[in-house]
Amino acid sequence: MATDQKVGRQTFDEVMVPCYAPMQIIPVKGKGARVWDQDDREYIDFAGGIAVSCLGHCHPAMVSALKEQGEKIWHLSNVMTNEPALRLAKKLTEVSFAEKVFFANSGAEANEAALKLARRYAADKFGPEKDEIIAFKQGFHGRTFFTVTVGGQAAYSDGFGPKPQAVTHLPYNDLEALAAHISDRTCAVMMEPLQGEGGIVSPTKEFIQGVRELCDKHNALLVFDEVQTGNGRTGEFYAYQGLGVTPDILSTAKSLGGGFPIGAMLTTTELAQHLKVGTHGSTYGGNPLACAVAEAVVDEVSKPEVLAGVKEREQWFRDGIEKINAQYPIFAEVRGKGLLLGAALNEAWQGRARDVLLAAGEEGLMVLVAGTNVVRFTPSLVIEKSDVEEGMARLERAIAKLYNQ
Ligand SMILES: *Cc1c(COP(=O)(O)O)cnc(C)c1O
Repeated sequence: MATDQKVGRQTFDEVMVPCYAPMQIIPVKGKGARVWDQDDREYIDFAGGIAVSCLGHCHPAMVSALKEQGEKIWHLSNVMTNEPALRLAKKLTEVSFAEKVFFANSGAEANEAALKLARRYAADKFGPEKDEIIAFKQGFHGRTFFTVTVGGQAAYSDGFGPKPQAVTHLPYNDLEALAAHISDRTCAVMMEPLQGEGGIVSPTKEFIQGVRELCDKHNALLVFDEVQTGNGRTGEFYAYQGLGVTPDILSTAKSLGGGFPIGAMLTTTELAQHLKVGTHGSTYGGNPLACAVAEAVVDEVSKPEVLAGVKEREQWFRDGIEKINAQYPIFAEVRGKGLLLGAALNEAWQGRARDVLLAAGEEGLMVLVAGTNVVRFTPSLVIEKSDVEEGMARLERAIAKLYNQ
């Protein structure tokens, strides 16, 4: 057996690169919205692995897709195509504006493909001077050097030598700043249609529609990073569908695999043709196992009752948080949409989001933070009402303890 070695949290410090600071617990088993650690302690999961486990843990549809494909064929590389990838690509074109799909293994890689396509398209069609990428402060697009440079936090991209050039950052939700800066040199505007890591910030209607208009005016492509917002998270299959604005390129990952690594870039036939044979690629991209699982996820999540259920669950969460806040007022507001929610701490509690996360962990509840002032909730899209109620009871105990300290 592969379990001949006993490992614990201290093993992390011994053998892992210290770029993470994981919690003390090590979960070993999950079912639906519940997780158990090495000591068989049970947790309710309001985090979903950072908006990934959209059908909860070990959903039967995903398990059977994985097992079935696992007995057939695991890998081919892109020298050949494969059935799960073709079926998944077809389905993604059915649930979105897209006509063409490129598969990658993560959100960052999907964004990397999106940025390279935008640059290549602009160079082919308008010439090499049209290279500027505009993105937004506090935005997050992944950790490859190009995507982290486009992301809006210099702290994440500093210290690695010369950065990819011609990247501009502007404030989110500030249409005037964009109008003042965008020009015919701009090749693309990349944005999240609801900032996740940046603190759960929704775009205003005027902003998002204005961005589209300015892109059109300057022949710039609009790239939506839907890595966190996609696959049902906001109650639409993709968030853009609830905003009345369609991008030219969309990246998707996280919930797309429901826990199996996969990412994809979606676009139109007209744009896709600029990535000719040999211009881009990935060994594992479109891997049959990943695509088989993602196909099962897309089949489940695109059901109208699942998408409607997200909106219903949003209300359960908002009500639960309001109720706790009425007794222990630590939050100023609840932001976000669907099951991508952020409870922003009030003045008196600034900087203490991680304290809430740790206190919740002690009560047997997994939540997330987004920055230092927002407690983030990104649970399974099919979480049961009883799990939400029990989780809220645990959150209340955690907050009561902090409040009465
Ligand atoms: C998580 C995230 C990414 C990066 O995805 P990885 O799979 O970690 O590479 C990119 N963009 C957004 C909006 C994200 O939330």
